[in-house]
Amino acid sequence: MRYAVDLHSHSGYAGGVGNISLASLARTMVVKGINAFGVGDCLQPAWRESLERQLVEREQGLYALDGAEAPLAAARFVLQTEVIITSPVSSGGRKGTHVGLLFPDFATVDRAIALLDRWGVHLNMGRPFIKCVDTAEVAERCFALVDSGPGVLLFPAHVLTPQGIYGSDHPVDHLAEVFGDFAPRIRVVETGLSADPELLAILPELDTRTLISNSDCHSEALNRVGREFTVLELKQLSYPGLVEALEAGQVAYTAEFNPAEGRYFLTGHRSGLERHGASYCYFSPDRSPAQGICPICGKPLTVGVLERALTLAKRQADPAPARVLGEVTARQAYRRLVPLVEVLAAGQGVKSVVGKKTARLFQTIIARTGTEAGLWELEAGEIARELAGVVEESVLKAILAVRNGDFSFQPGYDGSYGELRLGEAIDWQGQERIFRA
Ligand SMILES: [Zn+2]
Ligand SMILES: [Zn+2]
Repeated sequence: MRYAVDLHSHSGYAGGVGNISLASLARTMVVKGINAFGVGDCLQPAWRESLERQLVEREQGLYALDGAEAPLAAARFVLQTEVIITSPVSSGGRKGTHVGLLFPDFATVDRAIALLDRWGVHLNMGRPFIKCVDTAEVAERCFALVDSGPGVLLFPAHVLTPQGIYGSDHPVDHLAEVFGDFAPRIRVVETGLSADPELLAILPELDTRTLISNSDCHSEALNRVGREFTVLELKQLSYPGLVEALEAGQVAYTAEFNPAEGRYFLTGHRSGLERHGASYCYFSPDRSPAQGICPICGKPLTVGVLERALTLAKRQADPAPARVLGEVTARQAYRRLVPLVEVLAAGQGVKSVVGKKTARLFQTIIARTGTEAGLWELEAGEIARELAGVVEESVLKAILAVRNGDFSFQPGYDGSYGELRLGEAIDWQGQERIFRA
């Protein structure tokens, strides 16, 4: 059975957003075609209480909204959180590594909470910090967490962003440099918005691991929930079935952002930083300044995912030559998608994705295709037949451009998202911009 999952999100307790309601999440999941969704922050005491009050277990370890009627009753929730493990690394200083955790039930969540309590971890901030003195302690704590109940799954999150295991912030070259003896137990790794299976194929250490993709969203909005997701081939509809499929790599495909859309793709400094004002700069790896120093403010640039991946490919291959991007094929199937509301906005030539007309168009299309994921399953010809005369021509053209892969992004850098360009092919190489306001 094909089952679409999005297993990394955050609640209102992670900061930056108001309270997120499970009912509106379920409404968004149903139209997006997401079957199961990670609730986020399940170790935060108040959110955990509210989850237990609102959810009821349907299949083993898969939860639904209590009292929900069709179609919301079909939405399933998985108990999930993200934690930040901090530990000293050989490149100097303390690295904070973002890690996702999935739990089979509330009793296991409570045992994990008790462990964190014993370690002196503050649980109120949604995404708790687990401070460790060395890799031995990281390994010990990871083992303790996965042993807190049957089928607890721990996965390094958005591995190439600055806050991920391989990221440019206090860089390390191998999983074991942070996770120690726990590294061989890591079976699943999250691509994050700034990377996809093609980019990650140059890293030998990931050859034997399952790649998953999740939205990491902090909102129930249509362009956030399921903006990336994983389609699994499930043998059994249950939490153990889901974890089995993840660990065994039974992935039909992942739905991915074009990595250039992610906020950390190129190396650069965004506007608004100290000594920047409106000035900014970005570079692809072939144009990156010597020593990585910003020509505007003189401080080290934020190293982008692309540059970092190329460096890692060399280090992980050493002494063999590094794999070359574009010459190795991705091990797992994947699709590059753009959230439909963003496509609709682009087709109308408007910036906002929350306009009334965009919402109306979205509903019209979903009424015909069932779900957003279902729309992208159709062949281009079928989409054209289904939507001709139903949506205006510029909107249909935008949808078909995305379905045919005829789009690219002006790449993101240093925390700013990439910008969608339909019908254009923007190269990842040769990018250099130094804008002085
Ligand atoms: Zn994170
Ligand atoms: Zn700068």
